[in-house]
Amino acid sequence: MTVRKPDPELCLVIPCFNEAEVLPDLLASIRALDLGLRLRVLFVDDGSHDQTFALLAKACAKDKRLACLSFSRNFGHQVAVSAGLQYAYGDLVAVLDADLQDPPELLPDFIAKWHDGFDVVYGIRTNRKESWFLRIAYKIFYQLLNRITHIDIPRDSGDFALMDRRVVSVINQMPEHNRFVRGLRGWAGFRQVGIKYARPARQAGKTSYNMRRLTRLALDGLLSFSSIPLRFSGWIGAAAALLGFCYLAYALIINLSGQSLPEGWTSTVVLVLFLGGVQLMVLGVIGEYISRIFDEVKGRPHYVVREGTGWLKDVETTTPSP
Ligand code: UDP
Ligand code: MG
Repeated sequence: MTVRKPDPELCLVIPCFNEAEVLPDLLASIRALDLGLRLRVLFVDDGSHDQTFALLAKACAKDKRLACLSFSRNFGHQVAVSAGLQYAYGDLVAVLDADLQDPPELLPDFIAKWHDGFDVVYGIRTNRKESWFLRIAYKIFYQLLNRITHIDIPRDSGDFALMDRRVVSVINQMPEHNRFVRGLRGWAGFRQVGIKYARPARQAGKTSYNMRRLTRLALDGLLSFSSIPLRFSGWIGAAAALLGFCYLAYALIINLSGQSLPEGWTSTVVLVLFLGGVQLMVLGVIGEYISRIFDEVKGRPHYVVREGTGWLKDVETTTPSP
């Protein structure tokens, strides 16, 4: 049995992008939290254009437990979470959305599981409030993800999780730029468990995940954890070549048996279109991988820090070297 430290410290990591509308509710629910352990909160202001940073700086001035790391511009949710994990203090780190869709009231259950010996406790969404189209898309995505990757990325889990320091250290060591945090968390291993919860609707403000961002996140998940799409494109190429070969054999047989070949135009066009399409698709898949390799070799920092407030004031918040 794992023996846990008697007086652990917990750090909440909360990425915020244009969340001024929901911040008063969020801050109130953090103030109301009584978890029976030492608590710190780290907000990551992901280049918000609204009053988010001003409100957070004000809150940090009032409450010593709060801090805010502010980026020079918007770097994206997954980068904000990763930066939060890098600066988080404590034996335990929990990642929550700012819009109260990951209810802080569930944290006592998460902490109880940690005391039971689990190193990662993540939330599993039981009721999705999204449109039927998105629900089907999520279902297909998670099934595909589980089929083609070797690690266990639980279905319907998001970034809402409580992690032991050991797991956070592993994630912090991963240098990749296109980050899919729930995948990295699964990759880390240790003892992991999910807790089901009904994900409420966003408290206020509006989602910044549009179709384009969701697709990008899905691609990051699929391509960072599997090279099967690359191999799959090879198979499609081989299948197309085989089809072409069959057609050639058919044409030869017809020719040798003395029959005149059917009008050639249609079949030529069909073949050209089919092969052209397959080639473009395969090139597209290869391109996706190359663009990710390109991101890595450029070796730029993952984010740029503008400033840190609250307890981060005493910490050197520099842009990390790649
Ligand atoms: N977020 C962020 N940077 C972004 C987009 C979103 O830090 O570029 C934060 C946002 O403030 C929220 C969390 O990520 O705390 C989840 O975003 P959102 O609620 O828009 O996504 P959804 O819950 O609709 O998937
Ligand atoms: Mg949300």
